[in-house]
Amino acid sequence: MHEAELKDKQYVWHPFTQMQDWVSRPQKVIAAASGIKLIDTEGNEFYDGVSSLWVNIHGHRKAEIDAAIIEQLGKVAHTTMLGLANIPAAELAEQLVAIAPTGLNKVFYSDDGSTAVEVALKMAFQYWQHKGKPNKQKFIALEHAYHGDTVGTVSVGGIDLFHRVFKPLLFTSVHIPAPSCYHCQLTLNTAACRRQCTDRLEQVLAGHHEEIAGLIIEPLVQAAAGMLMSPPGYLARVRELTRRYGVLLIVDEVATGFGRTGKMFACEHESVTPDMMTLSKGITGGYMPLAATMTTDEIYNAFMGDYTEKKTFYHGHSYTGNPLACAAALANLKIFREEKVIEGLIPKIAAAEAKLEQIAKLDHVGDIRQQGLIIGIELMQDKSRKVPYPWEQAAGASVCQQARKYGLIIRPIGDVVIFMPPLASTVEEIEEMLNIIERSIREITQEGLVDNGS
Ligand code: PMP
Repeated sequence: MHEAELKDKQYVWHPFTQMQDWVSRPQKVIAAASGIKLIDTEGNEFYDGVSSLWVNIHGHRKAEIDAAIIEQLGKVAHTTMLGLANIPAAELAEQLVAIAPTGLNKVFYSDDGSTAVEVALKMAFQYWQHKGKPNKQKFIALEHAYHGDTVGTVSVGGIDLFHRVFKPLLFTSVHIPAPSCYHCQLTLNTAACRRQCTDRLEQVLAGHHEEIAGLIIEPLVQAAAGMLMSPPGYLARVRELTRRYGVLLIVDEVATGFGRTGKMFACEHESVTPDMMTLSKGITGGYMPLAATMTTDEIYNAFMGDYTEKKTFYHGHSYTGNPLACAAALANLKIFREEKVIEGLIPKIAAAEAKLEQIAKLDHVGDIRQQGLIIGIELMQDKSRKVPYPWEQAAGASVCQQARKYGLIIRPIGDVVIFMPPLASTVEEIEEMLNIIERSIREITQEGLVDNGS
């Protein structure tokens, strides 16, 4: 066993991990990376099929990002934003405003997706105090929502497995049905669909808008819920209703931002301009922790006033607007522009779609959901009757473990196999990774490695 694995098992507590399992099994230690591949301590190479948890964009050790960080290191690595400004943070804010949906003119920095959302919730809450509507205190969120792991973000979360234990600690939110067609509880078939999911939202807004500060949503894709995807038009309708009832719309683009869905931001697919947008993950190309909460002049201006008016937004973190991270983000955006990354996604997305059509035919693939290079493949014990595998069989985890044997790192969310390769992956690499996924699903589900209940 590599020394690092020993030390890891002795001292490190991993996120979202049952440590009893972790310490009892052999684990991979990543020592290096190159392009879209990770290299372990034995020199084995693996495709980074989930972009190191959905953050990596242009591959690892991208020369321009490496150079930008090194250049910034020669100036200053970190300085506070309390009472001081810094050059990369100011430049990045200008560039984010230029590419964001029109009207999002202000950038509040933080360090990760959870803190970006936490900022949005607190800002929305305080905004209404300043606007003379102090009763607007609650948030609407979707069932199965995931917005992070801080207490505020868990309060708007809706994933029972992660969030149940903390319930007594949380503030109450109003949850509306998740608009996931494959799992729809509201209609029995698509023909009968009259978008009952938005009717429920309208009822809640009509009855309670005076108590509602904002609605938070993962646009188009509820990622951590297992890549649940909303039908076209849903987000635009949410925007229309929130505007009509005077409720702030917070679009959480932490997972979907920076090209993942085929456009820079998921909002663009439905020409939606939210009141707030949260960004993280891809913002530095997957290099460094950084996040931003973007908002409108209307919200920003509501916080203006002298000290006696007590309108300051009292929130901030030690590493907010870190110059190294902002320099990485600037290099990331430059690559997007110079390499025309968004345009280059079209054939990649099409190649994935073609391959996924084949995978959809496998006996135990119940549903395939794709939005750009966000892909979820949902396994079912009985595909025709939509019967899932029993939890203890860990079918999704077994498929991902099998894929490692063939050189691909992917992660499951329950029995949904997640595939989110770096945007820099070529068509050939995407096809090769999907071939590995197909083979792994086939071997696990059809060759007796899980019980198919027959
Ligand atoms: N919002 C969304 C939509 C996310 O997918 C995530 C992370 N998966 C977060 C927020 C939290 O981000 P972080 O893990 O960086 O705190």
